[in-house]
Amino acid sequence: MDTSQTPRPGESLADYLVRIRKFKQMTQFELAIAAGIHSRSVGKIERGLTTKLNQKTLRGLAVALGVPQEFLEAVSKGQEVQLPQGVKFCHQCWSPGHAADPMWQSVKAKFCYLCGTQLQASCANCGELVVSTRHRFCPICGHPYN
Ligand SMILES: [Zn+2]
Ligand SMILES: [Zn+2]
Repeated sequence: MDTSQTPRPGESLADYLVRIRKFKQMTQFELAIAAGIHSRSVGKIERGLTTKLNQKTLRGLAVALGVPQEFLEAVSKGQEVQLPQGVKFCHQCWSPGHAADPMWQSVKAKFCYLCGTQLQASCANCGELVVSTRHRFCPICGHPYN
């Protein structure tokens, strides 16, 4: 079972809502109460009859399901959720303060094409994402990136 709360590519609002509700082990009725909306409204969304949600419904469902409201908005608009992504780099080849090689940034790239070292996108010490290659040290814990 996929326990990820992130909408999958191409997942509809109805599919997403059902998947997260079942993951939370809630009935349509329980979800409706938690979200402060009518249980018939939940049923309509899950059957794909309602695809546009107003702000109140969005907020209510997000709180009830414990997911970010942006996730629900994205699926209801058929958009993909943009997750924050760190700058990927090879700690052997990259010199901090310089631009990271674009070859490392490919979504599929897991290893450095120059030396075969596993690429990293977060601080080796605290796990915070590396957001800028101009940083030489982790802004959270002070650990050097290289
Ligand atoms: Zn390398
Ligand atoms: Zn750190």
